[in-house]
Amino acid sequence: MPDANPDPAPAPRKPDAAPRSAKPRALGGWSAPRGYPESVVRLMDELAKLPGVGRRSAERLAFHVLKSSTDQALALARAIEDVKARVRHCRICYNLADVLDGSEPPVPVASQPADHGSAGARTALGGSICSICARASAGSTDDPSADPASRPRDGGVVMVVEQPKDLIALEQTGSYSGVYHVLMGRLSPMDGVGPGDLTIADLLARVDNPGRNAGGVPVREIVLALNPTLEGDGTTLYLAEQLKARKVSVTRLARGLPTGSQLEFASKAVLADAIEGRRTV
Ligand SMILES: [Zn+2]
Repeated sequence: MPDANPDPAPAPRKPDAAPRSAKPRALGGWSAPRGYPESVVRLMDELAKLPGVGRRSAERLAFHVLKSSTDQALALARAIEDVKARVRHCRICYNLADVLDGSEPPVPVASQPADHGSAGARTALGGSICSICARASAGSTDDPSADPASRPRDGGVVMVVEQPKDLIALEQTGSYSGVYHVLMGRLSPMDGVGPGDLTIADLLARVDNPGRNAGGVPVREIVLALNPTLEGDGTTLYLAEQLKARKVSVTRLARGLPTGSQLEFASKAVLADAIEGRRTV
């Protein structure tokens, strides 16, 4: 993009203003430097609220927007608007689902687990069904010749993940043909996140009542795919306990050595997991 606007950053700063080094406060408490037009200050303030964006980055991004063409800048604004207006949680699995006709009420999408919570998770159900649940049917559906984007999914196998982005990562492998359930976090007693804050009740309802499951089919297997962290493991144990009495097979993802790694560099915990999870070749 041609730079029609020579970088005006240094100009508005007055030497007699409060020294900038005096206000490098933590994110959240930062305000854009004085001297900018009010609308630019507002843009910088909003950008600085984004995760991982510090004060310098907020200024840089704001100038990028200023230099962009009107079309480019509005495309960004519209993309933000659309994602808030159109995205809902799937009413079966809590994956993100696009509402194309915009006919559903504006229900907030639950926050990420980093916010501890999922206070919004329960209210975030629209009538939407995600593209994976929409393709659920009974039985094995592995047909390598079928188009992956339209291949039917086995509603009887439910993989449980912490958040939608874990689901996306697993989908990238192309090697799973079941459906999912997104917990919207993991149990974290330290942060006050208990079973009621996650979508555990909905998961159990899917197991207990095929009518609540994708494709209306009975759940045969639950694959626990939580992160291998202390909290993830705690959540796995809790779910395994809850599912024990139910007639469903419960498995969890293998853990151990990453492909391409070397034994001598692996940590003790990873090696112990790998030994425990050894299998016949
Ligand atoms: Zn779904």
